[in-house]
Amino acid sequence: EVSWPKYAWINGKIVEWENAKVHVFVHGLHYGTGVFEGIRGYYDSGYIKIFRLEDHMKRLFNSAKIIHIKIPYTVHDLVNATVELIKANKFTKDIYIRPIVFRGLGSFGLRAQNPVDVAIIAVEFGKYLKKTGIRCTISSWRKPSADSFPVYAKTTGIYLLYHLASIEAAMNGYDEAILLDHEGFVAEGSGENIFIVKNNTLITPPTYDAILEGITRDTVIKVAKEDLGLNVIERRIRREELYTADEAFFTGTAAEITPIVEVDGRTIGNGRIGEVTSKIMDYYNSITLGKIEKYRKWVTEVRID
Ligand code: PMP
Repeated sequence: EVSWPKYAWINGKIVEWENAKVHVFVHGLHYGTGVFEGIRGYYDSGYIKIFRLEDHMKRLFNSAKIIHIKIPYTVHDLVNATVELIKANKFTKDIYIRPIVFRGLGSFGLRAQNPVDVAIIAVEFGKYLKKTGIRCTISSWRKPSADSFPVYAKTTGIYLLYHLASIEAAMNGYDEAILLDHEGFVAEGSGENIFIVKNNTLITPPTYDAILEGITRDTVIKVAKEDLGLNVIERRIRREELYTADEAFFTGTAAEITPIVEVDGRTIGNGRIGEVTSKIMDYYNSITLGKIEKYRKWVTEVRID
């Protein structure tokens, strides 16, 4: 159960939650002509600590560019708006921040380039997936290739695919879906990137493949190499390699680092959180709370008073 916050930000203004509204005829609702982000803020002793806020906003602008949307603000404007919104809401719990930009009211023509609406929503949000390890299933839905769909943009439209994959997994009794790419290699989860561990080496699908370039994925690759002394290889992963991995885990803003302990009836490793996964989970938590000096630059602290 979510308890709604007091305010949201829409088209340049902080407004009462109930007034953050658009018309049912907005283009984005009908055709999925929108882009969005998901960002976490952690409450820690009087501060909301936002992780990689600017990087998320930059990805939002890149996603928008790919689908011909020009956002009538700068990255800096939206970073500041987010901070103001958090201050206004005086959050004292962990939060999820959702900037969204979509084509608004005007023509319903498919090619209409209506003015865009821009909103930032922030809500209280706890853990997303079980941190003790989850059971996954390979989805019957595939991640399309980059020549069939703009797969690198975080568009609202492509989330119909992830919605279906996620529902299918739940209907079959699993915690989460894993989508293969159009050639049958492991791509990603319905809202996460994926890593496997073999002989102390992290292996993850490359960004030239049809995956979202996750910010958590980027964080893990960087710190695994620089701070944890692990090898990282970006290459395609065969489905069978996933079944026989020593360890496997998801990365994502919502999922953070989530251990995968089963895939379609095959136990991964010993069926518990692996040693390498556990190390990365701990380190990731420290980084997001700004406890590792080197990565303090990734954390935006918002004082709540
Ligand atoms: N893949 C998909 C399909 C996602 O929805 C997400 C969540 N944004 C990710 C990967 C992970 O990306 P990030 O680490 O930037 O949250």
